[in-house]
Amino acid sequence: MRNLVLVLGDQLDSKSAAFDGFDKTQDVVWMAEVAQENTHVWCHKLRIAYFLSAMRHFRDQLCTRKIQVAYHELTPDPGRDRGSSFSEILTHDVQEHGPEKLIVVELGDWRVRAELQSAAESLDIELEIRPDRHFYCSTEEFQSWASGKQNFVMEFFYRWMRTKHDVLMDTHGKPVGGQWNLDHDNRESFGKAGPSECPTPKTFKPDATTRDVIAMVEQRFADHPGSLEHFLLPVTRRQALSMLKHFIEHTLPNFGRYEDAMWTDEAFLYHSRLSAPLNLKLLDPRECVEAAMIAHHNGSASLNSVEGFVRQVLGWREFIRGIYWREMPEYAELNFLEHDRDVPSFFWDGDTDMECVRQSMQHVINHGYSHHIHRLMVLGNLSQLLGVHPLKFHEWHMAMYVDAVDWVSLPNTLGMSQFGDGGIVGTKPYCSTGNYINKMSPFCRNCRYDYRKRTGDDACPFTTLYWDFLDRNYERLKDNHRISFAIKNVEKRREDDTEMTAIRRQASELQNGQCGR
Ligand code: SF4
Repeated sequence: MRNLVLVLGDQLDSKSAAFDGFDKTQDVVWMAEVAQENTHVWCHKLRIAYFLSAMRHFRDQLCTRKIQVAYHELTPDPGRDRGSSFSEILTHDVQEHGPEKLIVVELGDWRVRAELQSAAESLDIELEIRPDRHFYCSTEEFQSWASGKQNFVMEFFYRWMRTKHDVLMDTHGKPVGGQWNLDHDNRESFGKAGPSECPTPKTFKPDATTRDVIAMVEQRFADHPGSLEHFLLPVTRRQALSMLKHFIEHTLPNFGRYEDAMWTDEAFLYHSRLSAPLNLKLLDPRECVEAAMIAHHNGSASLNSVEGFVRQVLGWREFIRGIYWREMPEYAELNFLEHDRDVPSFFWDGDTDMECVRQSMQHVINHGYSHHIHRLMVLGNLSQLLGVHPLKFHEWHMAMYVDAVDWVSLPNTLGMSQFGDGGIVGTKPYCSTGNYINKMSPFCRNCRYDYRKRTGDDACPFTTLYWDFLDRNYERLKDNHRISFAIKNVEKRREDDTEMTAIRRQASELQNGQCGR
């Protein structure tokens, strides 16, 4: 054997640099289902099954091309595992087959990279880490964009990427339509009537391979959270492309307008759900951006929808990855607000009387997914207001979402959602009372709490905790001009000692286990 080419669960791209110069007569692909990756955070059953099913399908496709794959499957019996970690399994195989070199594409997780590097060192074998062409922006290019800047503003990065890659630009080098960012057009709610013509989501029936994986996960990971009853995800590149086509034709036209809206028992609405196949590299971000631009060109999707989607893929996603590799490993330790609590128990089972949280958790349990407002303004908002440790919130998110990979999850959760980085990826904490949730959803109408009330038995926990959050973090946040309005309001509220004392007392009860039960 010449090269052992390592392919991890989030690297399912046969055109990646790992395959450059691949020689079927001398090289072998190595893939492993690793128990520890599913237990070091207590993974949702659907997340485990999704990664493993996509990996097995990828292996099978390589095999049809006569590529030799050394593949380690998990079985219901842990006793049959070749090892419990990447490094253990790899060490066995390297010792057995004696390759000259290990090759892998840049990894999506700092911890796994460190583990592979250390295994290669112990085995005294070269580990070649090749650039990841999946992304528009390499880690070196991001470093050079970021160098010398005191603050990394995503909007400026996004404009730079749009210009560099000629995306939604006119012939004079200006943004199409005259504005870079149409977010102000993307904040509509559904009103009282609700969504009238939501497209039927594109779903994929589990085939025999997926059914085998589901059966194994049900046995081996029986006590893990989440449900496997709704396995609808694309597990091959062909299915992922079909999901992209469906999004462009049926969902993108209304995506922008209702991007932030929520509705009862509707997990997907107009969202693309492409994050999972994109993060497993079953899709290339360029084909997503190009398909959206064509839809705009053809007149089938409005500019605000297309720009909103492009900003997520070409802007935010690339920015987040750049931040991750620039700031790690110290980034994971940041805790600007000094929060130290665990995620509440209903983040695992959805058992709560807060209707908005119950709705969000229903999506998470059934689909390993909820759209970004459920993540940011319901679950993330509550976690921050309760004072959950930002790394614990990230670990929970890694466990429960099918699209979570460390590089994308950590800056989004610890940084943007929990303000643990004090403003590296976002410029303010994302927090609100129940008023925002009431504006963007019908949930408050069916809830036992009153979103307007700050204290009392039926006070909305979001509303009580919001004022307590601003009060307890007053010194840290008072000079943040992005939330000056909120700071002025809490200053006024602090003038009423009796009310502030009641808010603080009730918030403390909520933080100490009485929230949403
Ligand atoms: Fe959520 Fe509060 Fe509205 Fe209930 S009242 S749904 S807890 S925001």
